[in-house]
Order: sequence, then C-alpha cells, then structure tokens
Amino acid sequence: MNDCIFCKIVKGEVPSKKVFEDELILAFHDINPKAPVHVLVIPKKHISSLIDINNNDKELMGNFLVKASAVAGKLGLNDKGYKIVVNNGNGAGQLVFHLHMHILGGWEGAASGWQI
Ligand code: 5GP
Ligand code: ZN
Repeated sequence: MNDCIFCKIVKGEVPSKKVFEDELILAFHDINPKAPVHVLVIPKKHISSLIDINNNDKELMGNFLVKASAVAGKLGLNDKGYKIVVNNGNGAGQLVFHLHMHILGGWEGAASGWQI
C-alpha cells in the first residue's frame, strides 16, 4: 500500500525504533506511547485489520501472536504482565489501517484505567 505509514516503516522509508524484525513480522515503539512500555507489532504484509483476515492467513496470524509474545518477553514484561490491544475499524478507534497489536505494559502497580 503506497500511502500506508506502517508499510513505509517496513520499507525503511519512515524511521522507527525497532525492537524485533524477521521476514514476516516487525515490532517498533509507538511514537505516542499510552503506557510506560508501548510497542506495536505488525505483519509486514499489508492487511487492514482483523476484519479482513481469512483462512489463508492462519499460519501468519499464529506466527504473529507467537512473535508478539516473544517481543513482550524481550521487553521484560513477562513478570508483571502486559496487555495486547487490537483496534479493528473506525468504531473501535483504529487510526492506522495496517493490522497491528499494541503491547502495553510497564506500569508500577495495577494498570489502573485500563480495566475492561
Ligand atoms: P490505532 O488507533 O490505529 O490502533 O493505533 C495506531 C498507533 O500508531 C497509535 O498508537 C499511534 O501513536 C501510532 N503511530 C501512528 N503513526 C506512527 C508512526 O509514524 N510511527 C510510530 N512509531 N507509531 C505511529
Ligand atoms: Zn500497510
């Protein structure tokens, strides 16, 4: 997608603070963090949101979740825990239409204000 900011980050056309990268997945710090640790994990393939996945994406989606877990561990979040948030569509507040997981953590106590 030519005008997608996250595709531009994948291609290196827009800078990012990367924490993990392999052939399928990229993880980088959110530019406007909403938690002490806020990292985005994306598939390099452009998929708009979970609304658009299908059976052909099963392997990629499994890999996506396993890599997100590994990234959270690498960020030191396993002891205290973390949240994974995925916004899908305008009504859920999705702003960037390239599928991404938000990894949120690093709070000192309970994650007040984030209970759902
Ligand atoms: P959404 O609301 O779509 O789930 O979240 C999009 C996230 O992407 C927001 O938290 C926003 O701060 C982040 N973001 C938007 N543009 C950029 C960018 O150019 N670089 C980085 N690192 N994060 C971005
Ligand atoms: Zn994209």
